[in-house]
Amino acid sequence: MVNERPAGYAHGVHYTAPLVNMPRHLAYLVDRLQRSDVDIEITAVESLDEARSAAPIVVNCTGLGAGKLADDDQVFPIRGQQLVVSNPGIAEFLEVDTGESPDLIAIYPHGDHVVLGGTAERGSWNRAPDPTTAETILARCAAVQPLLRDAAVLEHRVGLRPTRPEIRLEEQFNGTGRIIHNYGHGGAGVSVAWGCAATVSDMVSRQ
Ligand SMILES: Cc1cc2nc3c(=O)[nH]c(=O)nc-3n(C[C@H](O)[C@H](O)[C@H](O)COP(=O)(O)OP(=O)(O)OC[C@H]3O[C@@H](n4cnc5c(N)ncnc54)[C@H](O)[C@@H]3O)c2cc1C
Repeated sequence: MVNERPAGYAHGVHYTAPLVNMPRHLAYLVDRLQRSDVDIEITAVESLDEARSAAPIVVNCTGLGAGKLADDDQVFPIRGQQLVVSNPGIAEFLEVDTGESPDLIAIYPHGDHVVLGGTAERGSWNRAPDPTTAETILARCAAVQPLLRDAAVLEHRVGLRPTRPEIRLEEQFNGTGRIIHNYGHGGAGVSVAWGCAATVSDMVSRQ
């Protein structure tokens, strides 16, 4: 409705969509894996050959690590910085579509806290939160949603979207074993995770 649009915005779309609380979602996935009937060993590998020596089928889901492991120079990071603040009473998410930009505006309420975005900085490997960037994120979001002006800052987050021009989801045969590549999901890896995993599962089942 017109009076629900922030000042200065000519167009808006109002819709209902699932919003993922990432720490909770990842904890759920880890718990689900641990409860399944599998042996889990967590270790870094130096090469896919090293992984292949330990398993007949290797599924390579190493995100940015695939650049080195699969010798793929098409893999690159898009850095995202976010801010977590206390929730001053926001119940609906808001996103301004600014494309890939260091000045994104995103407001994602998760009950008692709100995740504010953000940035999309192509090629940056910097995992440290930048205080000036955090201030500008808060200012941009508060300009759209004034309730955020006095929200307490709870946490700073930085993530690197493991990007590739196209997702690499394919099987590679090289005589000594099977490798299924599944990486390069960029800023959509949560959305497409189950679909990609189902495809990988089909590939693994095929002899
Ligand atoms: C700020 C931000 C906002 C985002 N917003 C969204 C969104 O709104 N919707 C959406 O769908 N997605 C979003 N994403 C993207 C999503 O988070 C990623 O696409 C997803 O996490 C990619 O998952 P992955 O498992 O492929 O890679 P990763 O999560 O990067 O996992 C790769 C794993 O491989 C491991 N690894 C790497 N190298 C090695 C090695 N040599 N040996 C052993 N292990 C190794 C790493 O330690 C890591 O655990 C966002 C990301 C960011 C940063």
